[in-house]
Amino acid sequence: MRIENPVFIPGPTNIPERLRRAVDFPTIDHRSPAFAKMFEPAREGVKRVLKAPHSEVLIFPSTGTGGWEAAITNTLSPGDRVLAARHGMFSRRWIDLCLAHGLDVQVIDRPWGEGAPVDAFGKALAADREHKIKAVLVTHNETATGVRSDVAAVRHALDAADHPALLLVDGVSSIASMDFRMEEWGVDIAVTGSQKGFMLPPGLAILGVSPKALAATEKAGCPRAFFDFRAMLSANSAGGYPYTPPVSLIRGLAEAIAMLEEEGLEKVFARHRRIAEGVRRAVSAWGLELCAAESSLYSDTVSAVRVPEGFDGTKVVTLAAQKYDVAFGVGLGDVAGKVFRIGHLGAMTDVMALSGIATAEMVMADLGFPIHLGTGVAAAQDYYRQTAATDIGLSKAA
Ligand SMILES: *Cc1c(COP(=O)(O)O)cnc(C)c1O
Repeated sequence: MRIENPVFIPGPTNIPERLRRAVDFPTIDHRSPAFAKMFEPAREGVKRVLKAPHSEVLIFPSTGTGGWEAAITNTLSPGDRVLAARHGMFSRRWIDLCLAHGLDVQVIDRPWGEGAPVDAFGKALAADREHKIKAVLVTHNETATGVRSDVAAVRHALDAADHPALLLVDGVSSIASMDFRMEEWGVDIAVTGSQKGFMLPPGLAILGVSPKALAATEKAGCPRAFFDFRAMLSANSAGGYPYTPPVSLIRGLAEAIAMLEEEGLEKVFARHRRIAEGVRRAVSAWGLELCAAESSLYSDTVSAVRVPEGFDGTKVVTLAAQKYDVAFGVGLGDVAGKVFRIGHLGAMTDVMALSGIATAEMVMADLGFPIHLGTGVAAAQDYYRQTAATDIGLSKAA
């Protein structure tokens, strides 16, 4: 595979040169103040990205999946009931992980392509008068289907039922690319990783933890050791870790946050929205549809494109890799073969997105899809031309 081409998988994402340099760093003594100086800006920066100034940030050497495990084992006990919807591969895997820890998961199944079922959550919470449900799990951005769920609406459902359950949110493929308001939405734990919106190599599980979730750690009975919040927080308060910290990734995280803040967080979100909209216009010009059931659910970080009846989405991904050295995401689980995914998050520009759209178009033509070369590219070009911010005095009109 040629490494010059950008990847269009929804994580790990493309690593900007500046971050590759930031993680390339000689060994330092992680028990020295030099490490604490690197660590503090990363933790404080994550709080700003999460919009969670009153929460704690914990960073483990792990991945998003480890973040799920840390979230549940630190706040729950075996046998505790959690409420979760299963509507994609990531929501499914988090549920499986809860089951492996002996939690009693009240699962609401929804077709893949739909979002978290706020009404069904509301009913389940209202019916739970004894407050057996200890946590509600939400996958903010289902990476398997390109579906964004409404976390604020789930918070409203909890409040409307006057229910004390914790709200645990997987933001692995949304945080730092799409708007996320941990404290405004009353999120108790937000989970992400280093390799998606933060544009770094994989290796960090990053968690925002509310005071309420922290209080729950005292009563939580799930066995935990490596991911124990208490051990981590006590070592962090002395500027260190309970074990060897992933020093270079933490250094990279501080630099990633500096990059995001130099661009401006809201501008980062707007860039993702604009790039995603160009991809969506291309998909519609091809005469194809997204997996997401309706436009309010469209993700700004990944688009899962439904292939026409009789075609195989996995072949699109295989041929793109073999023939053009470009990586797209395959369909997972229930939508395997039925979709291919274009990841457009992290260090992505409109020009990069155009190359992905053009490649997908070539591959689909190669495979005999009923599409015309250039149609998707032209639709995205039109949109990008009309919406490009210019500072050279050109009119914004086409
Ligand atoms: C990537 C991803 C994960 C899993 O993260 P790993 O880093 O692979 O463990 C979890 N949830 C979502 C929504 C993801 O996109």
